[in-house]
Parts: sequence; structure tokens; C-alpha cells
Amino acid sequence: MNTPKADFDGCVFEPASLPRLQVQGTDALFPVHRVYCVGRNYREHAREMGLSTREPPFFFSKPADAVCTDAEVPYPSMTGELHHEVELVVAIGGGGADIPLEEAQALVFGYAVGVDLTRRDLQAAAKKHGRPWTTAKGFDQSAPVSAIRPVSANGHPGSAAIRLQVNGQLRQQGNVRDMTWSVPEVIAELSRYFELKAGDLIFTGTPSGVGSVLPGDRIDCAIDSVGALSFVIRE
Ligand code: MN
Repeated sequence: MNTPKADFDGCVFEPASLPRLQVQGTDALFPVHRVYCVGRNYREHAREMGLSTREPPFFFSKPADAVCTDAEVPYPSMTGELHHEVELVVAIGGGGADIPLEEAQALVFGYAVGVDLTRRDLQAAAKKHGRPWTTAKGFDQSAPVSAIRPVSANGHPGSAAIRLQVNGQLRQQGNVRDMTWSVPEVIAELSRYFELKAGDLIFTGTPSGVGSVLPGDRIDCAIDSVGALSFVIRE
């Protein structure tokens, strides 16, 4: 049987397009390639998750199309415990593997504010049974991200307050200087496992104070000198 020739550049259907983030102060867009995340990069958060603070951070990932910029994010299916984790997001503008620590910072295009939305009940079950975190971390619209502030505009936030409010109530408060792995260390370490490419986003971990959100809740978060992000959880 002959398959009719499709009209999408030789593909059998139109390829999905990946998310693009606004670059603050310009009309330019940042096309997302991959989304990497660091787990347990703030000691106080490791402690609140019931873990030894001597355990080193580690990596997991989300699909690129989990990134969203919508003012409303749906409450995901299959969970009764959706948690917020506000994080500094590093937007990579260059690439490479085995990047030396002293060259890592030069690969940063800019920074954004992101929330690593987590089905905490599914994550707890996955941890208990030694299973992957895919359904806990990588669901649709699990990665709201703000516009990117380019390094060319504002440099690197070595020390900056990071906070998250739910319905006006402060839930998370910290400082990005308290990360166990600094941004250059995260980039250098990640590049030992994966070849980094322009368009990669790295969620660098969350400070303490994670907690549940419910349909109708409004989330406002900010990182000084980087930006702000607000969205509502929709039923
Ligand atoms: Mn996280």
C-alpha cells in the first residue's frame, strides 16, 4: 500500500514545536532544547525531605515541552499532592561536553525563575519502590518558566533572594548563594553526563518550604535581579 506523501518536509505529520521563552527587554525568543533539573541542591530542602545533608545533589530531567509560560496551569491528573518548588533556571547559550569549571559560566545565556511542579505523592511512591520519577516530575506543564534575563543585561546572580508565595502567603524563601553546587559547578558536572546544547534549561534546585497547592491557588515567585513569575492553578 502506498502511503500518501505528507506535506511536512518529508515527515508523515507536522512535527511538534518546542517551547520558546521571551528574552527580557527584547523581541527575541529563546528556543528550548532540553530541561535538566538538580535535586537536593539546598541543604535545608534536603533536610525537610528527610535526607542526610551530606548526600550530594543529583540530576533528573523533564521533557522540553513540559515548559510552559501560561497564566493558568492545570491541576494534573493522578495526584492528590501537587507541590511547588521555586528554582533559579539557567538558560544555556553555548554547548559542549566535559566543560572545565572555569569555562562553565561563559556558556550561560541568561537566567529565569521557574517552578518545578511535582506530584509529591507519586514521587514518594517511586522512591519507596526504587522506580523512576517520570510521572512525578515530567508531566505536561510541570515546568512554568518566566522570561529570561540575559547575562548581557544584568550579569550573574551570585547572591540573590529567591521566594515563592501562595495566595499572598510566603512559603519559600532563600538565597541562590546557598546552593550546594554553584551554577558553574552544576554546568561542569552535568556536562560530564550529557553534551550540553544552546537552548538547554537547567533547574538548579529549590530552597526549603515546599508544600501543596490546590486548584484556584495563585503562585507568585521572584528572584532578585532575575525576574518574577506568577500563575494560577486551574481545575
Ligand atoms: Mn526541584
